[in-house]
Amino acid sequence: MHRKLFIPGPTEVRPDVRAAMATPPVGHRSEEATVVGERIIGRLQTLLHTRGPIFLSTSSSTGLMEGVVLNGSTKRFLSVPCGAFGERWLDICRACGREVDAMPVEWGHAVRPEALREKLASNRYDAVLLTHNETSTGILNPLPELAAVVREFDDVFLFVDAVSSMGAVDLDFEALGLDGLLAGVQKALAAPPGFAVMAVTPRVIDRARRVENRGFYFDFVRHFAAYEKRQGVTTPSTSHLFALDLQLERILEETMPAREARHRAMAERVRAWARERFALYPEEGHQSITLTCIRNTREVDIAALNRELAKRGVVIGNGYGKLKNQTFRIAHMGEIRLDEIEELLGWIDEILGMKQ
Ligand SMILES: *Cc1c(COP(=O)(O)O)cnc(C)c1O
Repeated sequence: MHRKLFIPGPTEVRPDVRAAMATPPVGHRSEEATVVGERIIGRLQTLLHTRGPIFLSTSSSTGLMEGVVLNGSTKRFLSVPCGAFGERWLDICRACGREVDAMPVEWGHAVRPEALREKLASNRYDAVLLTHNETSTGILNPLPELAAVVREFDDVFLFVDAVSSMGAVDLDFEALGLDGLLAGVQKALAAPPGFAVMAVTPRVIDRARRVENRGFYFDFVRHFAAYEKRQGVTTPSTSHLFALDLQLERILEETMPAREARHRAMAERVRAWARERFALYPEEGHQSITLTCIRNTREVDIAALNRELAKRGVVIGNGYGKLKNQTFRIAHMGEIRLDEIEELLGWIDEILGMKQ
């Protein structure tokens, strides 16, 4: 039986988008594939408010994160982790043998713009690696303020993991002055997992040309050439091209402001519910609109709760990594609607014998 996903990715995929995955393959150098590729790029440029290059990657989000690390610096990265996904940037840098320093932030807290400014003033860095929405702790970092700080430093590029915010937060790539913005399609974009997208500035390509050992699969110079031809670098998942094309059309029909408002309304509802019964993990003022990370103050057996929820055809997220069982996470991400959230919260109340 299908269990409706209230986990922070992958998320529910609309039936018509799932069906689009079954479109018969086309040759990836065919005109048909190029037309779909062109349409997806146009839709992503509209979605992200950019006229610049868009990369389409048959990989999960982590692949493009590795691409950023392999192509994004000729000097030294600054990573500012405030949770497990921020730490992934560091792990990738170390695995790829790149120079990196960390400015760690206590889990459950957001990155502070002043602290970032102080770090960058050292002049040691030419790129910052940031997680916009930290899915492990439920923090939404203040991107406009952080991006403004990075813009004070001319040759410092800002690369943003927006994996669990793109498609929920209306992100304006050019107004924010970002250099790279990436996401997998399986979270707030609500397409099937296995594909990732990224907006970059032309100066990222210029820098990449000067970086040695960029690898092959995620070489941004090759990705840029593919973008110019509106084709895949290598054989793309054509199933994803068809599904993503349709899903992006649906997202733009809903409009990003409406989509962001819908996510915010769901987040407010879940936070209010959680404050009455438990407590929130992330600090006030920086809570995610796509998922709520809840302190398990009643020591509920989360696995047992999920077994009961499974009988009702739904599943929620346990805490991530070291936060497992200490916290649990309810995602309100992608195609989920407020009435579905109400139904879920009612079931949790019923199972835990809490007030309705
Ligand atoms: C899910 C997630 C990732 C990892 O994405 P994959 O598509 O599994 O590679 C990275 N960053 C954030 C913020 C995420 O939520």
